Amino acid sequence: MTRPLIGTSWKMNLTPSQATLWFESAIPGLTGLHDRDLFVLPPFPSIPAARAALQDTAIAWGAQDVHPDDSGAHTGDVSAAMLADLGCRIVEVGHSERRRDHREGDRLIAAKITAIRRWGMRPLLCVGEPTRRPLDAAIHVVQRELRGALGALPVNELDQVIVAYEPVWAIGVGAQAAPLDHIETMHAAIRAWLDRRGAAATPVLYGGSVDPENAGPIARLQHVDGLFVGRSALDPAAFVRIASVAVGERRGT
Ligand code: PEP
Repeated sequence: MTRPLIGTSWKMNLTPSQATLWFESAIPGLTGLHDRDLFVLPPFPSIPAARAALQDTAIAWGAQDVHPDDSGAHTGDVSAAMLADLGCRIVEVGHSERRRDHREGDRLIAAKITAIRRWGMRPLLCVGEPTRRPLDAAIHVVQRELRGALGALPVNELDQVIVAYEPVWAIGVGAQAAPLDHIETMHAAIRAWLDRRGAAATPVLYGGSVDPENAGPIARLQHVDGLFVGRSALDPAAFVRIASVAVGERRGT
């Protein structure tokens, strides 16, 4: 059976000193959760704090972005080689805020995924429709994003990817999580897309206004393999509650 996977991206929050305090507060409540996998994606400057705090635990750390090249004249960018050297195991790509703020498109996202795999880390690909729309149209958008980012990846590489379904209208301040039936239908469609390519082991997480109250019902949906948490997780106690939710039986792989 698949192990649930629950993690957080802090986005551009928590300085290295604040990160150290977050880990001191969260780790005691996280290390006893042996039936699930957990990860934290801090901003770049806080990755060393994550490594220091997590290196003797089973909790993975990673990054929120990467440049597709391994080195070179790219001022301000960070390569997969650097992230691997810091012990990162997961690197996020394709988040709607990067698609919006940095105009990142499919070709760049696919190149980042190749770089992440070249360095043995797992890409966490975010997909999701930008506005609320009928399910058929939402599925169409998400399948196009999956094809654009993952279409050229061999099956053995696809198994190393983590997909996060994040309807853009359901993430961020003022938003609410998508309804359970919407999440279940979208996850089933993503699962079907992956299964058609033989990638049965690729986990599909839900992200978008997950909080300690809705985390359990979402995590227990049939096609949801885990949770990807933004602003609720900035409070370490809330992340511990989310990470601890009862998940029940998981699908087989
Ligand atoms: C996100 O943007 O990836 C996210 C999950 O954010 P939030 O939980 O704050 O909606």
